[in-house]
Amino acid sequence: MSHPMSHPMPPAHPFDDDKLKEECGVFGVVGVTDAANFVALGLHALQHRGQEAGGIVSYDPEQGFNSARRFGYVRDNFTKQSLMETLPGPLSIGHVRYSTAGSKGQTQIRDVQPFFGEFSMGGAAIAHNGNITNAESLRRELIERGSIFQSSSDSECIIHLMARSLQRDIPSRMEDALRRVEGAFSVVAMTRTKLIGVRDPLGVRPLVLGRVGDGWCLSSETCALDIIGAEFVREIEPGEMVVITAAGGVESLRPFRPQKSRFCIFEHVYFSRPDSILGGRSVYETRRQIGVELAREAPVEADLVCPVPDSGTPAAIGYAHESGIPYGMGIIRNQYMGRTFIEPTEQIRNMGVRLKLNVNRALIEGKRVILVDDSVVRGTTSRKIKEMILDAGAAEVHFRIASPPTAWPCFYGVDTPQREKLLAATMSEDEMRDHLAVDSLRFISLDGLYRAVGEAKGRDKACPQYCDACFSGDYPVAPSDMIERGFEVKAAE
Ligand code: SF4
Repeated sequence: MSHPMSHPMPPAHPFDDDKLKEECGVFGVVGVTDAANFVALGLHALQHRGQEAGGIVSYDPEQGFNSARRFGYVRDNFTKQSLMETLPGPLSIGHVRYSTAGSKGQTQIRDVQPFFGEFSMGGAAIAHNGNITNAESLRRELIERGSIFQSSSDSECIIHLMARSLQRDIPSRMEDALRRVEGAFSVVAMTRTKLIGVRDPLGVRPLVLGRVGDGWCLSSETCALDIIGAEFVREIEPGEMVVITAAGGVESLRPFRPQKSRFCIFEHVYFSRPDSILGGRSVYETRRQIGVELAREAPVEADLVCPVPDSGTPAAIGYAHESGIPYGMGIIRNQYMGRTFIEPTEQIRNMGVRLKLNVNRALIEGKRVILVDDSVVRGTTSRKIKEMILDAGAAEVHFRIASPPTAWPCFYGVDTPQREKLLAATMSEDEMRDHLAVDSLRFISLDGLYRAVGEAKGRDKACPQYCDACFSGDYPVAPSDMIERGFEVKAAE
């Protein structure tokens, strides 16, 4: 049996180092019996947003606050009756995380959220999705003033800022704290009686409100409402704070100076689950539409449109439909990878992507193949997939990418390599094509992507409708900690 203080498993896809990774999912429920069971199911549906660790806090009037934090998948931990019985009560929140292990070292169990703080007016727990871009300077200031940090997580700053606030109730202390924080945050928090949800003024990361029976829930995505049979009510708006009690309903507050929203456009491309609804649009349908735009912008004569599974699938369907070229599953994913070889040997590791993906040779042989993928980050996986397709006898390989070139790191809650490691930061599209040694390589344009998400006129250059910084270098919030460390933000055009 794994000990909760140890770190028993590597990331879910040990061979998949070539995707951007969402760092967190949050979920909370109030007003149902054994709320933690609902939270566990919600987190299970949000597991794609973070596979390294998860935590749940619950409150019961008789037993007070209880918490459990574990490394590994939700289904391997928070399904055990013996554990769930320790999390009673009608109010609960939870968090799944993917760590930024490359930059901060291995996660300790104390870094796993929700974080808990005991204040004079009672306890509070918070779970945070996003990234605080001034966390280093806040942490320095807080430590100088006597705060004692328990974790290496930026999110713990919020608890310490709340502790220093002079406000008389916890929601007001949270408002105070979050006004000092820069960057992206979707926060789900709880007191003894209230479930609280907050989105940063730009609304970079998602957060939705749902109704479950007589209770309420908050979730990073709508797919987690579906799993518990909750009804989707609405999105929490950028800059909105909701304070929810089981009996009193939802109170909506506006603690921040209003700003034009800049939701993460990459949620549409890759992070969110295709069965979620974002901004009133089906993520699946948006991705299919990206494929349609891509086919219009970057046509090529070929015999087969083939997705790189699983995330390239809706865009490949859209590309095939628009181009009239047949769609086929030329690459098959081994669904059970990542669980089979928990600690791969060097020899197995060298097999790399072949362990996860296999080519459907009978379909590929002799064909001119269009491969549709969601993104190119380092390009290592794209190269290997191209080799597999050619080994299987493809006549030509054309890559079509459902996002613009990823040339800038994200500082808002997504793990990206340093700029130098991003293929598109150092190479032009033609150079990338030669580097990958494919017959052609085309990315959807930024305007094409905006059209696919419903902006008929494309990107408004003066005032972009989304955050697209990883493509454009146009950061909606200056990443002040990174600038202090020497990161050079692109000059305004
Ligand atoms: S930089 Fe990219 S991944 Fe990060 S929030 Fe903006 S669009 Fe999303």
